[in-house]
Amino acid sequence: MNFLEKYKKDFEEYDSMDNDFIDDDKIWAQLDKWENPSKADVRSVLRKAEQKIRLEPEETAILIQNKDKDTIEEMYALANKLKREIYGDRIVFFAPLYISDKCANDCVYCGFRSSNHNMDRKTLSLDEIEKEVKIMIDEGQKRTVLVYGESPETNIDYMCETVKKVYSVKSKHGEIRRANINCAPLSREELAKFKKVGIGTFQVFQETYHHATYRKLHPQNTIKGNYRWRLYALDRAQDAKLDDVGMGALFGLYDWRFEVMGILYHTIHLEKEFNGVGPHTISFPRIEPATNTPYSYHPEHVVSDEDFKKLVAILRLSVPYTGLICTAREKPEVRRQVISLGVSQIDAGSRIGVGGYGKSMGNQLPDKEQFSLGDTRTLDDVVRETCSMDSIPSFCTACYRAGRTGENFMRYAKSSFVHNFCVPNAIFTFKEYLLDYASEETKKVGEKVVADYVNRFKGEKVYDKILENLKRLENGERDLRF
Ligand code: SAM
Ligand code: SF4
Repeated sequence: MNFLEKYKKDFEEYDSMDNDFIDDDKIWAQLDKWENPSKADVRSVLRKAEQKIRLEPEETAILIQNKDKDTIEEMYALANKLKREIYGDRIVFFAPLYISDKCANDCVYCGFRSSNHNMDRKTLSLDEIEKEVKIMIDEGQKRTVLVYGESPETNIDYMCETVKKVYSVKSKHGEIRRANINCAPLSREELAKFKKVGIGTFQVFQETYHHATYRKLHPQNTIKGNYRWRLYALDRAQDAKLDDVGMGALFGLYDWRFEVMGILYHTIHLEKEFNGVGPHTISFPRIEPATNTPYSYHPEHVVSDEDFKKLVAILRLSVPYTGLICTAREKPEVRRQVISLGVSQIDAGSRIGVGGYGKSMGNQLPDKEQFSLGDTRTLDDVVRETCSMDSIPSFCTACYRAGRTGENFMRYAKSSFVHNFCVPNAIFTFKEYLLDYASEETKKVGEKVVADYVNRFKGEKVYDKILENLKRLENGERDLRF
């Protein structure tokens, strides 16, 4: 069978639909209606957001269209407050592992696109994966996202083998405890196989929610050309009982205001179909320059840093219980700013070339990268900086290993669970990092942060248990969690 016909039968389910849940005209009508909201309009939305209730599209449209300096500052302050209340000052760390850059698709913005003949392509063997993972573990990573192009070489059985391999690697005190996936949309049967090998979050970014732009940027003779196959990828994941799903848009392809509305409609759709369970995470990468990929140097809808900040805050206010991921595509100063506006996960020490961990000490491998990184600092540097931002770095993987995902996760997220479980688990996993991987400088700053967070539990039931676990870690035990 021709590879591009792989899902031909599966597509029929979507071809026969009259409409999907993204109504381009309606989104623009809502944005146009609120072209110039008053301070009072904005403040009334903020009052609802303060109660940590997911906003409705018209409310989000009001925040998107707000151009008033005072109330934009109020949006930022509330986004920061909600983040701290819901996530408890934790920043969760991960790093991507690029497994293959072979791709049959031809997305105009991506360095892996099939028509990019300047790429020296590679799919890692299981032995090569083991080497990469060892390096990641020895740098202190506990969570990864595995990234694949879409090609016959990286079929579901191969991808499952790579997940098993990643989980099997041990090095000294460490191992990868959570492997998320970022790959092409899959069928329900394929997704069920992923469920069996215990993946973390299954991520698929829609790239752009705008139908005509999607069609223009993704050639129609490729699998990726099918908008609805992608749009319903996370529904199929949920059908296959993968209830931790991550969505996102690639900012720069179309008007950012429309994309934020698209993400919100996607969230509402999942909540409606799957018992109130929306996305576990939302990503909002901006296009970065990719080797020999002209579109990526001059995307049509460049998002300024100011608008980027605004869109992060709006996402935080609109979907309060969803994790927000800001990747190392962004420069350190931008990352610093958006962390305080609601970001809960970041990657650090990332190498984005296939085989990148083994090959580069610095970070840049232009002929092998999908795009170039904005933040090339080491994990240790970023961890240390996080400590100085009133936050605690976390490498926690407890929830998904304890089955607290999907509907269960939402139930927990909305209670005092974060304070009683997530913060102690952040303390334990950060302590592990300090004991096993941190530089002297980071240890010094980090131990102060640990002491500060432990102190917050004084007088509470869990206090003694936290102290006991810290002792056990110092005595050589690992992977302790509540
Ligand atoms: N091939 C799979 C797919 O397209 O869904 C998954 C891997 S792809 C490498 C992961 C994501 O990288 C894409 O969904 C896209 O949003 C992002 N991406 C592609 N080109 C990019 C660029 N030039 N700059 C920043 N991000 C990019
Ligand atoms: Fe392939 Fe994904 Fe890049 Fe598109 S974005 S060319 S599907 S790797």
